This record gives sequence, structure tokens and C-alpha cells, in this order.
Amino acid sequence: MSFFLPGKSRCFLCGNAIATRAEAGRVPYAAPDDVGDDAKYGRSFVHRRCWDSWPNRARWAQSAARLLRRASDRIVSDEETTFVLEGARTGSAMLVDTGLLIEAEMSTAEMGVLRDTLLGGEGGELAVGAYRWQVTTTADAMTIESWQDGELVERWSLTEADRQRWTRVLSAAVR
Ligand SMILES: [Zn+2]
Repeated sequence: MSFFLPGKSRCFLCGNAIATRAEAGRVPYAAPDDVGDDAKYGRSFVHRRCWDSWPNRARWAQSAARLLRRASDRIVSDEETTFVLEGARTGSAMLVDTGLLIEAEMSTAEMGVLRDTLLGGEGGELAVGAYRWQVTTTADAMTIESWQDGELVERWSLTEADRQRWTRVLSAAVR
């Protein structure tokens, strides 16, 4: 699988086409020892709603996190399935969450702003690499929309536990 094609790329979990990029997530590689034959679907697209309700989601996310830990000497901070990796360029970093299907490159300064936005709990808008992230909050969850050139590219929902984990991992990375 390479680029996402709206209405053409298929979700490997339900087999149906995915209409928009914002509904889609891309799964990381997982080890065959952990997920069996399904491992061949690493880097494939899924509907986020299919992924979120998939019984093997946690197993997959943990397997992907183990692979990443083993393969990378660039891990700045990590907790369970959430990591900050050193970026390819000086002063850049990559936020990875194998459960929420996120890989986002940003500057260290942007990472600090993201951490403060998550801590503040009131939401807001921030620049993240080539994207604008809009953070909105409700009582028990947080939604992040990633926009580029007026188009909604991705949408993630964070539980309170996700928010706290991200805050800890980001804080460790930017200190
Ligand atoms: Zn699906």
C-alpha cells in the first residue's frame, strides 16, 4: 500500500473502501510472532472506527511498539505505545502513538506548545510541521484535527488516559 486514495483505498479490517483521509488510519508494522499472518497488513489503511473496535488492536499496538523500541536508537522518551523519536533534522522530533495511529513530525518548540495545550485542557490551534492542529475538548475526551491547505487530513480522539500519557511523554522529551 502506498498513497491514500479517497474512495479507493480499502480498510483491511472490513474490506470496504475508505471515503476520506480523515476517516483513515495507517497501521504500523507488527511482528508475525504477535499478530500471525495479519502482519502482512503492516502499513495498510483502516477505518479508524474499525481499528478502534478491533479486538486485536491492543496486541497490535504493543507489538508495533516493541518493534520500534528494538529498532530505534533515537527514542527520546517512551511509555507503553507512545514515543518521541529524534527527528531526521536537528531540532525536530517525531511523535508516534501505535495505538492511536499517529506519526507526526514537529519541531521541539512545537512539541512544547502541544504539551502546554494538552495540559491547559482548553484546546486551541497550533502549528505542527506542515499542518495546523485544532484541539477541542469535552469533559472526558479530546479531539485533534490536522488540517493542511484548508483540508481536514486526520482526526484523532484522545481519552483522558491518552492525554495524560502524551503529556508525560512530551514533557520528558522537551525538558
Ligand atoms: Zn473498515
